[in-house]
Amino acid sequence: MPNPYDENDQAFLFDDLPPSAPPKPAAPKTATWNLWHGCLKYSEGCRNCYVYRGDEKWGRDSRVVQKTAQFNMPLERYANGAYKNPSGSLFWTCFSSDFFLADSGADKWRQEAWRIIRERKDCAFFIITKRILRFWECIPDDWGAGYENVTIGVTCENQRRAEERLPFFKDLPIARKVFIHEPLLSPLDISACLFPGVEKVIAGGESGENARACRYEWFLSLRGQCEAAGIPFVFKQTGARFIKDGKLYNIPRRLQRVQADKAGVNYTP
Ligand code: SF4
Repeated sequence: MPNPYDENDQAFLFDDLPPSAPPKPAAPKTATWNLWHGCLKYSEGCRNCYVYRGDEKWGRDSRVVQKTAQFNMPLERYANGAYKNPSGSLFWTCFSSDFFLADSGADKWRQEAWRIIRERKDCAFFIITKRILRFWECIPDDWGAGYENVTIGVTCENQRRAEERLPFFKDLPIARKVFIHEPLLSPLDISACLFPGVEKVIAGGESGENARACRYEWFLSLRGQCEAAGIPFVFKQTGARFIKDGKLYNIPRRLQRVQADKAGVNYTP
């Protein structure tokens, strides 16, 4: 009788293993890419700037602008050569400054930043600025109709700044445009600027101890204007002082987004 465990006949024991699966591509990430730290106050929305508030705790002067250690972050790779932030990742830029900041090293560093953005065409970059009026001074020579992987969000905190910045923004060659009204400091009529191609309008209140109050009806008005224009609207957060039906609410940081979500006034066409 043949030995069923004949070591020279192993085919019966286990099926062959399936060929090993190809390695899965790494999942895209969302990262903050803080190119430089420090900023100069520029308009009304800067009064209670969170960068200044944060630096104050450490005795640091926020007006001193410095390139950060993570300046080359989008190009960083693992030992095997793969990018640490894989293809499809989204980088939020300059959260403790302004990408279009003037009168600092930023004017020098920005060209290098554009080179990195160009090199990572496989990723998306989100730039938020109050200084859109500096656009033509700040773009690279090969900007053309706008880098496809760059979204620019212009911040306008009140009617005056909306009228100053949004009509200018409208005519700029930028592939992806977003309006940001945060901190919202006044009611806004932006209906004349809600042109096709604006991807989204985002609004929110001011945070921090000295936050200026915002009113619910300001957000409802913005939502109505967005709805009329068929443009998405996001009520991002209430801010620390929020007035609804004539009553002032002091809202802790952890609940500001939660309460905005609960309002249920976001709009998607
Ligand atoms: S532009 Fe932004 S980062 Fe700069 S001071 Fe104003 S609020 Fe702060």
